[in-house]
Amino acid sequence: MDIITEKELRHRRGLPAVEPNPTLKFMDAETQKIYSEMLSPPNQYFVIDPFANLYLLAAGGGCVVAFADAFLEAWKRVGEDRPRLVAFWDNAGPQAPSLKLESGLSLIGKYDAKQHLFGFNTEAMELAIKADMLLHVIGHELGHGWCHTDPASAMSNPGAVTPELLKAREDEANAKAAAWGFDMRALEHWGNANRKRFAEMTKNPAYLNEFTPVV
Ligand SMILES: [Zn+2]
Repeated sequence: MDIITEKELRHRRGLPAVEPNPTLKFMDAETQKIYSEMLSPPNQYFVIDPFANLYLLAAGGGCVVAFADAFLEAWKRVGEDRPRLVAFWDNAGPQAPSLKLESGLSLIGKYDAKQHLFGFNTEAMELAIKADMLLHVIGHELGHGWCHTDPASAMSNPGAVTPELLKAREDEANAKAAAWGFDMRALEHWGNANRKRFAEMTKNPAYLNEFTPVV
């Protein structure tokens, strides 16, 4: 698993380099240390698949390498649907897609269409690894991402986010993930068995409700 700096990632993506803050030079050593810690969080970029512009932003340690390996494995399962996603991200700009593993994220896993962002809650992914559910969680979110490539999908519908639209988005993501060989029924059962823990990990009371049933 290769790790690259933000500078290197920006170079690979053809983005302009960010210059270091020159005012730091005039600070005493202690203040400089505090500022440099503030300005560079412990996040690193882990290379998943450079051809797809897939780099994981995460703090090191814990489950991050296992997560990055699983993401690559799930991405391989997308198989012949990969070129369509890569072309879609290419067209969306050099930042697309974004992939983040984040402690305390308010959702277990998410796909944000506006930012082409896949986000995952670190603590919940540690639980998913133990339960052998990680690939299925990632497969579900990749399903949302794939649906976004279809202008007629619920994910591409820019209308008001009603419960019906949310359910349509879950159904289409589950259908696509299942077609790739991910087990959405097992994911639903695992999700419902861990709702209380998810609500604690995310501080999001929505997890006290049942997950959208897999049809
Ligand atoms: Zn979903």
